[in-house]
Amino acid sequence: MKVIRAKSAGFCWGVERAIDIAREYASKGRSPVYTDGPLIHNRQMMEVLTKEGIREVGDYSSQAELNVKKEDQSVMVVRAHGISPERRKYLKNLGMEFRDATCPDVGIIAGKVRMYAKKGYVTVIFGDPKHPEVIGLLGYAEAGGHVIASHEDIAALPALGEKVCMVSQSTMFTDEFQNLAADLKLRYPKVEIFDTICGATKDRQSDVVELAKQGCQAIVVIGGRHSANTVKLAKLVEIQGLPCYHVETAAELDFSQLQRYQTVGVTAGASTPAFLIDEVCVKLEALK
Ligand code: SF4
Repeated sequence: MKVIRAKSAGFCWGVERAIDIAREYASKGRSPVYTDGPLIHNRQMMEVLTKEGIREVGDYSSQAELNVKKEDQSVMVVRAHGISPERRKYLKNLGMEFRDATCPDVGIIAGKVRMYAKKGYVTVIFGDPKHPEVIGLLGYAEAGGHVIASHEDIAALPALGEKVCMVSQSTMFTDEFQNLAADLKLRYPKVEIFDTICGATKDRQSDVVELAKQGCQAIVVIGGRHSANTVKLAKLVEIQGLPCYHVETAAELDFSQLQRYQTVGVTAGASTPAFLIDEVCVKLEALK
């Protein structure tokens, strides 16, 4: 089988940076290296990191009370998704070294939300209200933050006044953002709109379109089922009209289905490690 691997498949720079920061502490013998929630949304990679001494505490949304004790060598690392100012204060008060590994692209969104909140703007965030990035960003909007994911959500917004700004969770679809931004502008003509979908997300999404153009008959998407950007890639494959096979590992590949294709594309979410992508490609290439 011919396999075309998307150039962007795998870790984005923000995830890689957060992993490198946590690993650096672990390699210097710091212990425990805590992360407030899973460092990345990939079970297999989390297993690797756990063996290296990186210990996830708390919950997916970074809201739970942490039952951790300060030890001489302990350190708390913040994930690439970022956290709210309140959470930052809480983690710093644990008394151990605090290291912020928030992706700088998320930091830019948080800075924008904070700046506009200070000027009296209400912020509308396009995203998933349960995603830790969105929960963190809402904290910067102070009292004036709303999360929307659809036209119905926009219709259900209360009156927001004259000063409204809109940003996006970093991993959303650009087309959906633009549609919803246009809708919001009808209701709030003076709305300040910022497309804050990150470059890494845009590259992954345009690579799916490219795989379709290169003649792939189906696309395998590798990544965690809780990874927002992986789920979006799978949805985008379906939008291209191609069969999509979303797997977490090569063990889930359905060869009886896949062997009917001559050319298959492979892509992976921003939290999928290279070793899982390599394994899938090797197995697919071996298919007769
Ligand atoms: S998906 Fe984008 S914003 Fe999120 S960690 Fe990666 S580079 Fe940063």
